Amino acid sequence: MQFIDLAFQQKQLKSSIEKNIAQVLNHGAYIMGPEISDLEKRLSNYVGVEHGISCSSGTDALLLALMAYGVGPGDAIFVPSFTFIATAEVISILGATPVFVDIDPETFNIDPGKLEQAIEAALSNDASLHPLPRQKTQSAGLNPRGIIAVDLFGLTADYDKISTIAQKSSLFVIEDAAQSFGAENQSKKSCALADIACTSFFPAKPLGCYGDGGMCFTDNSELAVIMQSLRVHGKGSHKYDNERIGINGRLDTLQAAILLAKFDIFPEEVAARQQVAERYKILFSKSTDICPPKTPAGLKSVWAQYSLLAKDQSHRRSIQQNLKEYNIPSAVYYPNPLHFQTAFSPLEYQIGDLPISEDYSQRIFSIPMHPYLTLDDQNRVAEAILNCR
Ligand SMILES: *Cc1c(COP(=O)(O)O)cnc(C)c1O
Repeated sequence: MQFIDLAFQQKQLKSSIEKNIAQVLNHGAYIMGPEISDLEKRLSNYVGVEHGISCSSGTDALLLALMAYGVGPGDAIFVPSFTFIATAEVISILGATPVFVDIDPETFNIDPGKLEQAIEAALSNDASLHPLPRQKTQSAGLNPRGIIAVDLFGLTADYDKISTIAQKSSLFVIEDAAQSFGAENQSKKSCALADIACTSFFPAKPLGCYGDGGMCFTDNSELAVIMQSLRVHGKGSHKYDNERIGINGRLDTLQAAILLAKFDIFPEEVAARQQVAERYKILFSKSTDICPPKTPAGLKSVWAQYSLLAKDQSHRRSIQQNLKEYNIPSAVYYPNPLHFQTAFSPLEYQIGDLPISEDYSQRIFSIPMHPYLTLDDQNRVAEAILNCR
């Protein structure tokens, strides 16, 4: 049993992937070939946003978005602590400071109430309202600029509340949609929920290529032009006229060609993922020990991961051991919240600062999840987990 079965998917698509790759080899436009704008148009149509700007990874998509806003030293960007390092590293690489916020216990996404407290704390430089990076508060203070909300495991964050909070303090909102391309929030699709959305085509994501890739989405034409420039060294109207400092952040034409083939069956895969998730939900509903994920009304997760909470760390350990004995892969996303990462130790966060993220990192684990998982396999996964006390 595979955690994510990319080989099976490739079998379904082999001829169209090979045809698309052959086309690129024939026309030879390896950089910014015609497949790039094709893909940008198809994906931005799908999510219902004006501009899609493809780029070299989900991380670079986040970086381009922050660069478009001119984020730099002294700026504070609010992010959940329970996420992948990329969400926060792009803030620090620009010299700005991440302010970590705890998650909602049901959705695993940034808690809007805590977010509001964190913004208030930064504005008034008062860490008694919400934990702040200790190192920074001693100096000049922090200038709140924006929020990066994460759609963890494929479930979109609460953008209604987040945008209202952002507007009050004139902050921008970026949607880290690396795990949620294909998800829905009320009548909107993921990637259409904030000022800029950033997704990833890392192979294991819901829509993955065969290498690194990403895309920014926005309805704001000014920001789109800036991000298009930033991804090609800050180019202006002429190739060797550079208007700003940028990066080499383009998506490869070959990866776009592969994504175009994969996108043809993507809506069916999203439906299949939903079916797999519903079967898991039924299998785990009998358990009093294991807590299956909850989906708030009006939201549709794309189930990038199917993550469960064990009772405690030792329960998780025995579950993972049992799964291993059944030859079933499992993983922990994430074993260490970002405010405890060594790279962020200069911010001097302390144990107890963000209790839900800290607790969940000890108890959470993820099980096989992909569109081609069979009911038989799911029964075995459930058996291995529910046999564990
Ligand atoms: C995967 C991921 C990223 C980074 O995407 P890459 O394409 O690997 O650079 C960013 N944020 C989250 C939440 C992710 O899961």
